[in-house]
Amino acid sequence: MKYAVKEIMVGLGLAVIVFLALQGFDITPFLFLGVMVFLLRFMMDSRTNNKRFEMVGGHKGTTTKIPKVTFKDIGGQDVAKRELQEALDFMSMDSQIQKLGIRPLKGILLTGPPGTGKTLMAKAAANYTDSVFVATSGSQFVEMYAGVGAQRVRQIFKRVRADAEKANKSSGIIFIDEIDVLGAKRGQNTSHMEYDQTLNELLTQIDGIKVSEDIRILVVAATNRADMLDSALMRPGRFDRIVKVDLPDKDGRLHILRIHAKGKPLADDVDLDAVAKETFSLSGAHLESVMNEGAIQAMRARRSQITAGDLREAVEKVMLGEKLDRKPSDEERRRIAYHETGHAMLGERGKYGSVSSVTITSRGNALGYMRQNPEADQYLYTKNELLERIQVCMAGAVAEEVVFDQRSTGAIGDIEQATKIAKQIVSAGLSELGVVSSDLPGSILSKTVSQIIQEQELLVFDYLRSNLDQLHRISQALLEREKLSGDDFRSLMQLCA
Ligand code: ATP
Repeated sequence: MKYAVKEIMVGLGLAVIVFLALQGFDITPFLFLGVMVFLLRFMMDSRTNNKRFEMVGGHKGTTTKIPKVTFKDIGGQDVAKRELQEALDFMSMDSQIQKLGIRPLKGILLTGPPGTGKTLMAKAAANYTDSVFVATSGSQFVEMYAGVGAQRVRQIFKRVRADAEKANKSSGIIFIDEIDVLGAKRGQNTSHMEYDQTLNELLTQIDGIKVSEDIRILVVAATNRADMLDSALMRPGRFDRIVKVDLPDKDGRLHILRIHAKGKPLADDVDLDAVAKETFSLSGAHLESVMNEGAIQAMRARRSQITAGDLREAVEKVMLGEKLDRKPSDEERRRIAYHETGHAMLGERGKYGSVSSVTITSRGNALGYMRQNPEADQYLYTKNELLERIQVCMAGAVAEEVVFDQRSTGAIGDIEQATKIAKQIVSAGLSELGVVSSDLPGSILSKTVSQIIQEQELLVFDYLRSNLDQLHRISQALLEREKLSGDDFRSLMQLCA
């Protein structure tokens, strides 16, 4: 939009000048002014360009450093590391490659969610191959002026060659983060001519990489949206190695936690294995943040060591957000306590020992929350497991109805979640409709989804009504203590059993 306004202004300016010329006015001063503005703009642009690459590639006038990060500094990601290392080993076998006439490896694409270590991988690749390293991001190539993006692509290839020469190295790695900004399918962007020219230039530069060159260049790109990329980028000879860098599994999380625990004094009660179990679906960046927040927590409490409690607090902060000063009324607090206890009771019924904490402290968007740990990382769910998850979602609203006769708006998020799971049941062919096509009419889908949720709600009503003592006792304890650990919660459950 910003670009469109600029373009309209330039167009209008030109139209006025042409109009004045046709009316017989002397337009020389306007032309002079126009040339001055253009020159000024050009000078500013090239200064910004230089700055951008200075920023990403090191200091002006010095060579780009070889990163210190090694593959040992990357936790988990064993498959991705192995694949990448194999590709890099191949890169160093120059003479065999030339003898056999193998075309060089030119591009590696790292795909995966944010914060999983793609940048670390690229840096480790540079360290492993003793290459100079220049990092940039797709968005740094994007400009409205025709040719600027393409010029930046040429600059960066030139820059890495020059840096390698200066550092007396035989290879250089260009890392392009967010390649989807620059390499999205052509013809899709609004100012698509410029985007397309930039992408074409990148393809030309990649095609120009030769085995016989003194300095070997490898382009490592990263994206969270591989599906958006132009097929020309992915064709053999360009980014034909795709390495998936996924969210870490439990062992991977433990490895990452250990890496980031180095140099941090941990108290004896800290069990990193337990933290790894609790942190399903967190990325490496989140886990780094957990260790950092744990240390901050210890510092705030003026402790010289990080305790298990500090790390528990840190996990909640990273998962749910900062504690808030919101002060619900007494009536609202009671409602929140019953709501969260409802969730916890059904959560524990589905998987014994899974509730890790229940609280009525506001954090992020939640007024209270119940946290449940999976026993092991789980990637597939049976129909019964999905139905149990719907019961856990709906148990908050049902508990409110059982005790207060009415539900509240506090269950909106839970309903969204339950609906999502019920839709999953339908699309996986697990509902009474059997296998359905993707163009199932919306009315049938929503009727089936409502039916699935209502059936589960009835089961939750039965369970909570027949365990009303537990519901009251635990909610009361929660109101008094504000937070219950999983073990506290389970001992209260047993007291009433
Ligand atoms: P994005 O897609 O958002 O650019 P990314 O995948 O490139 O993210 P990185 O920038 O490599 O992620 O990681 C960010 C930080 O998270 C790292 O500096 C590191 O502290 C931590 N981190 C992420 N993954 C790992 C890992 N596998 N091992 C150790 N630390 C990690």
